[in-house]
Amino acid sequence: MDDLKRKLAECKNARNKLIVSDAVFSMDGDILNLPDFLEAAKEFGALSMVDEAHSTGVCGRTGHGVCELFESAGKPDILMGTLSKALGAEGGFACVNSFIADYLRNHSRAFIFSTSPTPADAAAADAALSVLEAEPERASNVKLRAEFFAKELQRQGVEAKYSGTAIVPIVLGDERLAMSVSEELLNQYIYAPAIRYPTVARGEARLRISVMATHTEAELSRAAALIKKTISG
Ligand SMILES: *Cc1c(COP(=O)(O)O)cnc(C)c1O
Repeated sequence: MDDLKRKLAECKNARNKLIVSDAVFSMDGDILNLPDFLEAAKEFGALSMVDEAHSTGVCGRTGHGVCELFESAGKPDILMGTLSKALGAEGGFACVNSFIADYLRNHSRAFIFSTSPTPADAAAADAALSVLEAEPERASNVKLRAEFFAKELQRQGVEAKYSGTAIVPIVLGDERLAMSVSEELLNQYIYAPAIRYPTVARGEARLRISVMATHTEAELSRAAALIKKTISG
């Protein structure tokens, strides 16, 4: 936040300013400090934009994202997200005022001349949103399961922490180790993708595990034990 404010101060006199952030950062699962982010935008007269790719369906009591999590913080000028993660469909959305909507329709290169989502995709996203509305316990379950999984890893002696989201990173450091552990786990039917440089900094290679609301505690305990065993070689 300090760095953001320093940079905003540097371009204090610019006419158009836009600050952009992930709502949930995908490598550690850490959550944007939305109140401070919006406060900085206001202080420096910048537009704000938040990408909810990893928070839709997860953050907030009923999975409505970071604006639900930080209820009193207000909303960014551009709230965008994808339908392809928690919602299991395809495509994306931008929640904006009508002025910005017109601007995007007429200037967004990704939008102009591209095919609209198929009716099946739109229906799938619509159905997923209905599930989210009807079964908000899914959003709390995914966080409870992620917390349980992080604790199970700790119990096994694997360094992991609960981020408040579905993402549980296990930082191994060494890139080759991360790759080989990931491959061995896949052989045991555990999908724990290895993330390496340049996606993360050198020396911070990791397994990035995404927990689902439908994982059982037995599955997560078993996975934690297998992960420990595989890392220890
Ligand atoms: C996944 C993701 C998207 C969008 O993904 P699509 O598959 O193109 O819908 C956008 N932003 C972030 C940060 C993401 O992680």
